[in-house]
Amino acid sequence: MKPFDVYSVFDIAIVKASGSRLWDDAGNSYLDLYGGHAVISIGHSHPHYIQRVAGQLQQIGFYSNSVKIGLQEKLAEKLGELSGYPDYDLFLCNSGAEANENAFKLASFHNGREKIVAFQGSFHGRTSLAVSATDNPQIVAPVNENAHVCFLPWNSIEALEHGIDADTSAVIVEGIQGVAGARIPSVAFLQAIERRCRATGAMLILDEVQSGYGRSGKFFAHQHAGIKPDIITVAKGMGNGFPVAGVLIGPHIQARKEMLGTTFGGNYLACAAAQAVLDVIDQEALIEAAAEKGRYLHNELLKLPRIRDLRSQGLMTGIELFEPAAGVRSTLLKEHRIFTGSASEKHTIRILPSLTISYEDLDVFIHALNHTLN
Ligand code: PLP
Repeated sequence: MKPFDVYSVFDIAIVKASGSRLWDDAGNSYLDLYGGHAVISIGHSHPHYIQRVAGQLQQIGFYSNSVKIGLQEKLAEKLGELSGYPDYDLFLCNSGAEANENAFKLASFHNGREKIVAFQGSFHGRTSLAVSATDNPQIVAPVNENAHVCFLPWNSIEALEHGIDADTSAVIVEGIQGVAGARIPSVAFLQAIERRCRATGAMLILDEVQSGYGRSGKFFAHQHAGIKPDIITVAKGMGNGFPVAGVLIGPHIQARKEMLGTTFGGNYLACAAAQAVLDVIDQEALIEAAAEKGRYLHNELLKLPRIRDLRSQGLMTGIELFEPAAGVRSTLLKEHRIFTGSASEKHTIRILPSLTISYEDLDVFIHALNHTLN
């Protein structure tokens, strides 16, 4: 047997990681500005994270949700406190797509409706409804095509009036569109979506899978707009590499036994990993740090030539070039040993570093990019 060949991979075997550094099997060191699809929030191999996960493994790694798992309550309490949503409930699952899938179900259970509104450029995952709400026909199989989802233009307030109506079960929007290349919603756009949802009874789902957990300089990117969604989905940075995801559910949404469920979601190891991430975010004041470092990176990047558009909020950054980004990213990796991300917008380089990245490492990147663009 061999792995199913679905990924375009770099011919590099990473065998070790620490902070924002990666090492390959030949001992070469790389700077990681991508965190493996925005996953690394507190840095690779953080000592507190290792200690919590390894310590938990010594006790118990797994039992199902048929017993009381006290760690889930502790995690929910800490997440509620740090995120500013202490009165929301938490449903734990395993991936971003699964979190969104459950969010859609909850919305539909709650208001009995079927229509979903998503936005052009969106990415919400690869499972059934999540992929049908993703604006990329190439990854939507015929079986996923359904009449439930309609796509509205990004950042267009006018389109909301007719697009969101009394049949709409849920509106799903990313806090910042990630895969599209760090496309930031305007404050007015997010506020208009919230107003339209309130007027029609549609549930507002904020997909913070990529933009959440401090990356934007606030716990959630939508908090820059001062709105309050009914449901928020999280994954990626939540476990710093351990597969864990969550659905934050507003207090007006009633739980019913068997409404949602999962075998692995909320297991002991996942909770220990997720708790360790929150401990570090809290103790090292990483959200404030992300805001400051993001401002620094943005201001330094503004000085570089040949950048067509620079989009950033906190450390979540999209650098749109005049040329396709692939060649520049390849030079950064091969000549400067720096990992960056691509975007569906082919001219954009996506930068998603750990919130613990140092100013020195940001400078390394800025100099390398300047060198490459000149
Ligand atoms: N939502 C957003 C905004 C994402 O960026 C992603 C993944 O890139 C997902 C959902 C899907 O997450 P996962 O790959 O964990 O299913």
